[in-house]
Amino acid sequence: MTKLSDLGPPMPGMPHGKGKENGQDYFYSCATCGQKVDMRDFRQVMWHEKPDHEPLEPEPDATVIEFTGKK
Ligand SMILES: [Zn+2]
Repeated sequence: MTKLSDLGPPMPGMPHGKGKENGQDYFYSCATCGQKVDMRDFRQVMWHEKPDHEPLEPEPDATVIEFTGKK
């Protein structure tokens, strides 16, 4: 199974015609494999654009970059 990190470093991008900030609108279900795709990450978009592919292996730590704050 292909991991998200196998596709390379994060490639943040902005989808066309969307200006919302609440995050959920950036996800869609892939018509091929049914997996949720984060449109903000071009790696995921490119992967799911392939005509024949399998779902990416879940990789929670690498999917979302969070700022935890310094103390
Ligand atoms: Zn897919």
